[in-house]
Amino acid sequence: VESHAQPLEVEALSVRFGGLAALSDVSFTVEPGSLHALIGPNGAGKSTCLNVLSGVYEATAGSVRYGGRELTKLRPHRIAALGVARTFQNIALSPRVSVLDNLLVARHRLMRSGFLADGLRLPAARRERAEHEARVREIAELLGLTELERPVGTLSYGTRKRVELARALCAEPELLLLDEPVAGMVRDESAAMAEAITRSRAELGISVLLVEHDMTFVMGMADRVTVLDFGKRIADGTPAEVQRDAEVLRAYLGG
Ligand code: ADP
Ligand code: MG
Repeated sequence: VESHAQPLEVEALSVRFGGLAALSDVSFTVEPGSLHALIGPNGAGKSTCLNVLSGVYEATAGSVRYGGRELTKLRPHRIAALGVARTFQNIALSPRVSVLDNLLVARHRLMRSGFLADGLRLPAARRERAEHEARVREIAELLGLTELERPVGTLSYGTRKRVELARALCAEPELLLLDEPVAGMVRDESAAMAEAITRSRAELGISVLLVEHDMTFVMGMADRVTVLDFGKRIADGTPAEVQRDAEVLRAYLGG
């Protein structure tokens, strides 16, 4: 699948919280259609970076451009409307509602007829809803989600995390930002998540910026890796390059 995504260019990005430099002069580029990993020990500034990219935090200095457009002054919903979606570290789904309905909520932004017409079951709205439902089922299948009528609260943790990924994809993003998608998962669950991410890229042509502290998880899947430590970029390259970088090894071994 050809990618419709555009380059994400992070340039000399700095974020300060009072006296703390959470990010200092960090630069990297996520190429269209690539999987770019942002890794580093706890407290390195990974989530802070993701929060700036999605408009949750304000940058102190530097720029973030998506397709040439400056994002640093935009509100989160404006950034989302440009095709940049994210998942959150804590699950934000409605537990009593079915998987299908949780996913359909993410389509409302794309629907012409809106909540009211949908609720009244007007014919045009019904047709449109059917189209959206078909697309939602396609995305769910891609991620290996099968029991779409079940309330989300009855699913295992690993499956719920894949529903979250599916919900982000249901907004039809070009660039997906993932913050530690396999945190707290057992091995089978992280393998299922890795496959879901790989298939999403292959089938939907999206770019992925994957934040992760476990270096081994990203090595098999990333095209390129940026390594942060104490808010600074200490390495940037292919997985093979950063894996044998002396400074990266030192950061991970805490030496
Ligand atoms: P990572 O995701 O790599 O573990 P974070 O980006 O969460 O790291 O945190 C980087 C540093 O910034 C940490 O020292 C953290 O305590 C600090 N930090 C993050 N968010 C805030 C905030 N909202 N206010 C103050 N300090 C923060
Ligand atoms: Mg974090």
